[in-house]
Amino acid sequence: MSPYRRYNPDDCTACAVCTVHCPVAEATLAFRGPKQTGPAYERFRLAGLGDDASIEYCSNCKNCDISCPSGVSVATFNMLARAAYCDKRGIALRDLLIGHSGDIGRALRSVPACVLNFGMRNALTRRLLDLVGLDRRAPLPASAPLAERDRLRKGSTTAAPGRSSRSPARRGTVALFPGCFVNYYAPRVGLSVIRLLEKAGYEVIVPESFVCCGLPLVTGGLMSAALKKARANSREAARLAGLGIPIITPCPSCALMLRHEYRDLFPDEEGLAYNAAGIHEACSFFLGVSDREELSLADARPPREPLVYHAPCHLRALGLGRPGIELLQRIPGLRIEDTDAGCCGMSGSYELKKGHYDIGMRIGASLFKAVEQSGAKLAVSECGTCRVQIAHGTACMVAHPLTLLAEYSGIPDS
Ligand code: SF4
Ligand code: SF4
Repeated sequence: MSPYRRYNPDDCTACAVCTVHCPVAEATLAFRGPKQTGPAYERFRLAGLGDDASIEYCSNCKNCDISCPSGVSVATFNMLARAAYCDKRGIALRDLLIGHSGDIGRALRSVPACVLNFGMRNALTRRLLDLVGLDRRAPLPASAPLAERDRLRKGSTTAAPGRSSRSPARRGTVALFPGCFVNYYAPRVGLSVIRLLEKAGYEVIVPESFVCCGLPLVTGGLMSAALKKARANSREAARLAGLGIPIITPCPSCALMLRHEYRDLFPDEEGLAYNAAGIHEACSFFLGVSDREELSLADARPPREPLVYHAPCHLRALGLGRPGIELLQRIPGLRIEDTDAGCCGMSGSYELKKGHYDIGMRIGASLFKAVEQSGAKLAVSECGTCRVQIAHGTACMVAHPLTLLAEYSGIPDS
């Protein structure tokens, strides 16, 4: 019997709406689809009648949860079932590597980017990674310069080492949860968030005690390790909530984990029942900042060329609308088109895994086409791995909405 809490599948009315909206089921017949692998097969699992190996194909994109009219958390069923399956069959080396990528990044955080990028992206390493199950054709993000990673870690937007540029807190303090992608590959996104918040009159702290949100561990079937991350982050979130300090993250997947997934995956953990309302996806927080006129968007100077926007699946799963494009649309003169083309196919680390690359690229094809047809040279998305995938599948540059807002507002990026 699984050590993880399981859910009653009887809320499912077998309408199959989730299957229609599942990008993986559309891209490959190897996956039985959310209705089958989720609630339908859960009945067999609960009765101890066996596992469904096709669960390995679920990308945890959450489109089933978003579309289910009965509110069934199909992806949660799948991730808990995958963890129980992996406990029995063993964890693949690639899932261990990806699952612990946040810990690896932390251990290597003092290593210069040129060393990391040569180490990860040369032909020999790619062949070795391919041997352990990471497809050599899949795009890997490049490590950011050490100086930028350091500045973000210190919560400082200044170049001077050890000095903080924290502004006097006219409006209070906020805590930044950068997430692993921003920490190691895109610290300029975090630095832009800090600069914008400071301009709006907030003091920003970047707590050292935050760790990886645990999502790569969940998708790799490493649920016990993910629970340890959830406990560590929840302790810090509870401490900050006690001080009345909101937490802001520019990563939609981290926001989803902190706000919803911990409690969905580990409902029996009382310590995870902290104030989720105090955790904010960064663009939605800035919509409030703009509504309260703490930051003027009227002076921003956008480019003449149009932009194109992609809404990450995990942002849509948060149920907050599309705050990134809404924020940019408030800049006078900025032209931006929403592709509304569904999942990009990367799904965090899904496409990196051997056997998933072609599926991911098939899923992303509609988005790539929409981006190319828009004629834009610059695409916008909140999710780091969506940005990697769009850059891989199109000729576009890709940026986070808040990096652009800072740039158009004349806020220096270093
Ligand atoms: S999980 Fe929801 S959407 Fe899927 S078949 Fe059941 S009721 Fe329908
Ligand atoms: S999480 Fe995504 S891939 Fe998995 S069943 Fe749901 S829609 Fe399909």
